[in-house]
Amino acid sequence: MTTALPGVASLQARFATELPELAEPWQAAATPAPRLLVLNEPLAAELGLDVERLRSAEGLGLLTGTELPAGSTPVAQAYAGHQFGGFTKLGDGRALLLGEVIDADGNLRDIHLKGSGRTPHARGGDGLAAVGPMLREYVVSEAMHALGIPTTRSLAVVATGRDVHRETVLPGAVLTRVASSHLRVGSFQYAQGIRDDDLLRRLADHAIARHYPELAADPEPYLSFYRAVVAAQASLIARWMLVGFVHGVMNTDNMTISGETIDYGPCAFLDVFEPNTVFSSIDSGGRYAYVNQPGAAEWNLARFAEALLPLFADDRDRAVEIASEALASFRTEYDAAWSAGMRAKLGLGPAVDAQALASEVLDLLRASHVDHTTFWRHLATAARGDAEPVRGLFLDLPAIDAWLARWRALGPDAEAMDRVNPLYIPRNHLVEEALAAATAGDLEPLHQLVGAVRSPFVERPGFERFAEPAPDDFGQYQTFCGT
Ligand code: AMP
Ligand code: MG
Repeated sequence: MTTALPGVASLQARFATELPELAEPWQAAATPAPRLLVLNEPLAAELGLDVERLRSAEGLGLLTGTELPAGSTPVAQAYAGHQFGGFTKLGDGRALLLGEVIDADGNLRDIHLKGSGRTPHARGGDGLAAVGPMLREYVVSEAMHALGIPTTRSLAVVATGRDVHRETVLPGAVLTRVASSHLRVGSFQYAQGIRDDDLLRRLADHAIARHYPELAADPEPYLSFYRAVVAAQASLIARWMLVGFVHGVMNTDNMTISGETIDYGPCAFLDVFEPNTVFSSIDSGGRYAYVNQPGAAEWNLARFAEALLPLFADDRDRAVEIASEALASFRTEYDAAWSAGMRAKLGLGPAVDAQALASEVLDLLRASHVDHTTFWRHLATAARGDAEPVRGLFLDLPAIDAWLARWRALGPDAEAMDRVNPLYIPRNHLVEEALAAATAGDLEPLHQLVGAVRSPFVERPGFERFAEPAPDDFGQYQTFCGT
């Protein structure tokens, strides 16, 4: 089914039509006074949407789901998931899938709303979202995209004119999210939970068609599909680790089948390099600490394998054997992706095994509480011949000098380093400053921050403060999810 949209694109209902058991038709809540806060014009163009029309009243109706083209069928998606290790039936409690569009490259992309009102999956929640957290998703997902890390995107944030009651009263907003799909490990766990093998198979076929179409003709399509997701996640988590990203809530419902980063709740970037960093206020046990992310992903992929067992083999023991063997490739693939990434960060050629060199310097960063992002940019300056900026970050000078001498002897390429080590990331103090200003009505700091992180590798005059570490009085950063 296809519906006309403002602009050039048209809205499809592939998910809703092919997987009706997972799609609850639902309407977005009314928005008393919608006001566009931010629109992602390059993304709109990619989707074939007309920017001027998106800014009109008709466009705001689409971006909040309140005025959809005739025939469109927004749905709340059902899924399940392990949240901090405990299995629960979930679903879009405050989100809706409007449908899919075909983008300029011919790929199917979901158009999805977050903060669009209560759905049958809302449990105790109010179905709403506040301006601050939706703008946080906007800026961090755009930063991730600019860093070349697979992610869902943000098309727009619209203030609704409705109050949201949290610890204080906050202005409400709807985020329009774009993703290559919203299929997650938890979608498969839902089919597993209700023991519906037919649904499981159709879900896997739908996922293969959308994300791994070349596998449709594979002699073992479901095992190859599983392996492909393991590989996509191993690569994704390595990218997070290399840039110092902490997702914060790696529950199985927040792990995509596409390999895109999803659900920017309590996420944040490392300031000082401390592997045990936890930003999320609810992660008291440190389950999703920076250093634990590869292990958490592996655990989630084991749950994914369990959900897929009926598709691997009729004999359960045989299916478990197949799954365990396939999951074992996560570590190998993760290690290879991390080592290759570290080699690039160090500016070294493909012949060098950078694993030990990288691990050693990370130990030094940790011991001296060095700002992660600053270190890598200063290291390029050392490759250019001036080691003083990087030496100035360390307490143990003999140790860093010995390491620098070994590294420099390998002939690092400073230009190549600057192409992979970002100068501008959404630093926590800048994100907080921009969101506080936006909540109070001033969007200028947010626009500036988005401008900085959209081009993270190229140094620009006037952007100096976006490259600075947090001021000393910023203190221990804490983030909140579900807000
Ligand atoms: P998250 O931790 O953001 O992935 O959310 C976990 C689950 O809680 C998802 O099913 C969300 O849809 C749901 N949820 C989070 N916040 C709300 C809210 N304010 N109202 C209803 N459901 C919510
Ligand atoms: Mg989620």
